[in-house]
Amino acid sequence: MKKKEKSSGKKIFAVVFVLLTVAGLCGVMAYDAIKSSNAQISSVAMGTVVSIKLNGYGSDKAAQQIVDRINDLDNRFLTCKTSDSDVGRINAGAGSTVNIDGFTAGILTKSNEICAAGDGAFDITLGSLTSLWDIGGENQRVPLHSEIEKALDFTGYKNLVINGNTAGVPTGFSLDLGAVGKGVACDEARTILLDTKVKNAIISVGGSVLLFGENEDGSPFRVGIRDPRGDSGEYMGILKLNSSCVSTSGDYEKYFTSADGSVYHHILNPETGYPVRRDLISVTVCSDSGLVSDALSTACFVLGYEKSLPLLEKYSAQAVFITTDKKVIVTDGIADSFELTNSDKYTLEQNDNA
Ligand code: AMP
Ligand code: MG
Repeated sequence: MKKKEKSSGKKIFAVVFVLLTVAGLCGVMAYDAIKSSNAQISSVAMGTVVSIKLNGYGSDKAAQQIVDRINDLDNRFLTCKTSDSDVGRINAGAGSTVNIDGFTAGILTKSNEICAAGDGAFDITLGSLTSLWDIGGENQRVPLHSEIEKALDFTGYKNLVINGNTAGVPTGFSLDLGAVGKGVACDEARTILLDTKVKNAIISVGGSVLLFGENEDGSPFRVGIRDPRGDSGEYMGILKLNSSCVSTSGDYEKYFTSADGSVYHHILNPETGYPVRRDLISVTVCSDSGLVSDALSTACFVLGYEKSLPLLEKYSAQAVFITTDKKVIVTDGIADSFELTNSDKYTLEQNDNA
């Protein structure tokens, strides 16, 4: 019998929360003397809230260019929600190869490398599974075990074939770049900004944030990490970082509660086909690359703390892990940049690999 599920209704709040946190904590940028050279806008793109805060000559124009570029990126290349984008056409043409833009081929190649490096914990070919669960979507539900088993037969990153500007997946397979697209959007925003006179910027695309340029007094950016078990607007710690990309994956971002009270979140274990049941509730990854920070935050969430360390090292990335029992583990490279602000609820653990 089909169980009746109720939506948590928290998705939008979760997203807005990230923005408020980042915007609120990054106020160090807002003191610039020439008001007309600042821009601050929020928009919806890639199915999430995009918040843009720029400081420097040409900020208004650059802000609009960034929003347009993120929309373009999604519509033309990455979305799996329509069959018009490159990824959508790969999915619609499963069983054969299709021509794609060189940009998309580059994203798929880099993403597939990370799938392999993480031994499939992060897998961009989970489309058959993610659409079955549809977590955060209109048709979210707990699929039958037999449906999950069947969908699993149509997943596996090794099946994605990329050859120059053509790509394809076998019949029944489909791509879902939901775990990497927002990081790619941060990379694209940086490419635009490098061509402008904007001095510094904070661009937040869902759970991924680009920190660009330098503050005038040379101080680092301050980024709040959301309290995964807190109310909307609460953060549990602050990272002080220079120009870089920061992505968070957590079990609180998209989820629903079934009629029997079980909670199902949106990060799936590619081995079982069910939401990951691990000791982690949130992972934040910092990297020079948005694609890498986004892909790795998802991969690390699936792998757990110990198994994530070699992957982080391979990509010269750093991370903050929050465990179910409210322990916080910070990797060596950013240990001095992290400040725990909610020590009532969370405990900072020593990193064993220090
Ligand atoms: P993120 O918030 O970046 O961790 O991305 C989560 C989104 O990526 C989900 O909403 C799914 O669309 C997709 N996804 C879920 N599990 C995985 C996984 N193990 N590997 C790759 N993508 C995933
Ligand atoms: Mg991700």
